[in-house]
Amino acid sequence: MKKCQYCGTLQDDSNQKCVACNAFEFYNVCYNCHTAFDSAFCPKCGKRAGDKGK
Ligand SMILES: [Zn+2]
Ligand SMILES: [Zn+2]
Repeated sequence: MKKCQYCGTLQDDSNQKCVACNAFEFYNVCYNCHTAFDSAFCPKCGKRAGDKGK
């Protein structure tokens, strides 16, 4: 899951651009704790971006 940096819409990892505003910039959203972050790993729980767990 990821989140548009401009309008905040949540969308699928496979989306190349925002379904709402067509922006190409996204934050990653942790599947575990739903924190939005910019790096490869969640700063809160340490999960990798896009890692759904089981
Ligand atoms: Zn957007
Ligand atoms: Zn997390």
